[in-house]
Amino acid sequence: MLIAKVIVELSLDKKFDYLVPPELASAVRPGVRVEVPFGKSSRTGCVLSVSEVENFQSKFALKAITAIKSNSPQLPAKLLELGSWMADYYCCSYEQTIKALLPGAVRRGTANRGKRRFVLGEQSKVDEYFHTHGNRKSAAKRLSVLQLLSREENLTAEEITQSCGAGASVIKALLDEELIAVGSVDPTATRRERFQTQVAPDQPRTPTGEQAKALEGIYYLLDHEEEKVRTGLLFGVTGSGKTEVYLQSIAHALKLGKSAIVLVPEISLTPQTVRRFRARFGNALAVLHSRLSDAERREEWQKIYKQEAKIAIGARSALFAPLANLGLIVVDEEHENSYKQSEAPRYSARDVAVMRGKLENAAVILGSATPSLESYYNALNGKYKLWTLQHRAEDSPLPEVKVVDLALAQARARENHEKNSSLFTPELVTAIHDRLRLKEQVILFLNRRGFARELACPEDICTWVAECPDCSKAYIYHKSRQMLTCGLCGRIAPAPVHCPQCNSEVLKFHGVGTERIEEAARRIFPYARIERMDSDTMRSADSHEITLEKFRRGELDILIGTQMIAKGLDFPNVTLVGVINADSGLNIPDVRASERTFQLLTQVAGRAGRGDKHGEVIIQTFSPYNDVIRYAVAQDFPAFYEYDSAVRQILQYPPFGHLIALYARGENENDVVEVINAVFNKVKPYCTEEVVAVEPAPAPLARIKGKYRYIATFRGEKISQIRRMLRHLVLHEVWKKSVDLYLDMDAQTLT
Ligand code: ADP
Ligand code: ZN
Ligand code: ZN
Repeated sequence: MLIAKVIVELSLDKKFDYLVPPELASAVRPGVRVEVPFGKSSRTGCVLSVSEVENFQSKFALKAITAIKSNSPQLPAKLLELGSWMADYYCCSYEQTIKALLPGAVRRGTANRGKRRFVLGEQSKVDEYFHTHGNRKSAAKRLSVLQLLSREENLTAEEITQSCGAGASVIKALLDEELIAVGSVDPTATRRERFQTQVAPDQPRTPTGEQAKALEGIYYLLDHEEEKVRTGLLFGVTGSGKTEVYLQSIAHALKLGKSAIVLVPEISLTPQTVRRFRARFGNALAVLHSRLSDAERREEWQKIYKQEAKIAIGARSALFAPLANLGLIVVDEEHENSYKQSEAPRYSARDVAVMRGKLENAAVILGSATPSLESYYNALNGKYKLWTLQHRAEDSPLPEVKVVDLALAQARARENHEKNSSLFTPELVTAIHDRLRLKEQVILFLNRRGFARELACPEDICTWVAECPDCSKAYIYHKSRQMLTCGLCGRIAPAPVHCPQCNSEVLKFHGVGTERIEEAARRIFPYARIERMDSDTMRSADSHEITLEKFRRGELDILIGTQMIAKGLDFPNVTLVGVINADSGLNIPDVRASERTFQLLTQVAGRAGRGDKHGEVIIQTFSPYNDVIRYAVAQDFPAFYEYDSAVRQILQYPPFGHLIALYARGENENDVVEVINAVFNKVKPYCTEEVVAVEPAPAPLARIKGKYRYIATFRGEKISQIRRMLRHLVLHEVWKKSVDLYLDMDAQTLT
């Protein structure tokens, strides 16, 4: 008889056996989605494998598959294999990875089309409401809807109810008070049009010598499927023409009848990026980005599934595009954090790309100006090929980088009784004035949003700090709106005027944020056109694009922002980049703090002088002699690699070992501690000398949304046995219901 192993869409991490009835025998294959009886009801599942079994023995009578979900696509067998590998390696259930392989919209197969979607009402009205009702319990439901919509626009009533529990009556009340509104146009549609606008076709450039060498290596991989090492690191400085290399490599793959996937970080998936690919490949391109509506996502996915599109470009999840005869996967900005998914399955799209390449015998290009230590390590050890682009393609020189000592500037300012020069040193002010005079553009970068990091009481005796009641973190203070926001859970509250604890008349704030930079810049350069871009001002992807478009057209002189502006933007008229404080990311207790700071500074600096004008970068710092900052200033990645990897090798941190984080969270702290200790103690005896096990302790973010969080870590080169044990303990053993346990394999940050 024929028996199928089926993954049922429930979080059980189990494969179940089902009989294949004769009339379905020809249709049931791996990857096909089926209806199966489960308990007293019926469920959807995915067939993993089918086998012929004689004399099947079982305690239970086998149930039979009831039907094939006929209008549902099937997963290619190789993708299913990739999914199984991910479930094992990233320690999550099989159902979770299958979900990741198929976009929800495709899985559900029905559209939310035609439903009303809601957006926030006028900002001033909403702010006003927060001020008058922010602390009232009775308004809690309404406030939570407003918070939700300020993070995510255009939600349907169902989505709102699902996310925060507020029902139709609450939505109606908010509509009546004009605190929310019905989205007037479907913004996803206009956005899509912008992504799809007709683009003038463009021709390949004649490669530079360095590009030609890289291309030769990549063509060789595409032409010779028997070549063993199929992954290469394309290490090229900003503006060296990596994208041109991707474009020509993809063209070569297409010529061979193969298909290709391009992964970019969501943040750089702008119409500008898509335009470059569209100009070369026209409609052979399918674009998958997070702002598509369900119907659009299904449509793009179907284009790929039916092989009408041969190239899929998108963020993380585009890696699972069901392309046949895959020849090439490109991972641009491979060092980017955002390739690691922060919820289950907690996979790294870069590493899974290498795995998919292996399974489908495709070539994989990892591109970056600041490679991850892992990839560079692999390239040095011959596990990956290495192609280097050291010069900018258009021969514009790399920008000149200057360091300004903030401590010195502060001392000088104190002597002269000046204000604000700790934000803008005289060097930076002069440089900005020069650019404004020449009608050139300036980017100012600070890695912190808000006006200040903290609002606190100045009285010595009082300890009051504005903190989120649900999280172990101080609120971020936004001056112009007189608001406090929590960076962890998104809670919004009105900023108090007096100290709620001792009634002190004044409150002070610490720590500079982008909003304060903006305020200072407007004061120092009153005639300049200035805009700020961070997650507070850019509530939708639209405002993001609008601001960038204005900047591109020269309607702005100074753009101030966070990470958002550090990545992949190419503005020929930007000749000055100022980093307000380079130290802000440096003193965090995280092994990757140095790496991130180095990457960020190099990427930000790369925004200057992309055109034919000479670029300049000014980095303000309190630690001009810090090694990381020195290497970033010298733009010397290999030296930074030597420096940082020496430390990591001693500690067996990645790339010299794997890092597994075990998290437990729950509302009852004692339960959380009890469970994580129990799991840890079961594993501890099996940790050989080669494995470093770090005892459970409160996690760096010790409380989020009212839940306590604890962490234990394991690291070492040979850790797969420990990983398997942990996976079993977390997914299959029963602990306390009130405690969530999960594992983060190859954790990027410990949170
Ligand atoms: P990267 O992706 O490495 O940052 P890009 O591919 O964006 O670099 O290239 C930077 C600029 O150089 C772009 O304007 C691009 O059109 C141009 N460019 C790239 N390769 C060449 C080439 N071979 N000849 C002339 N211009 C090139
Ligand atoms: Zn919070
Ligand atoms: Zn006080």
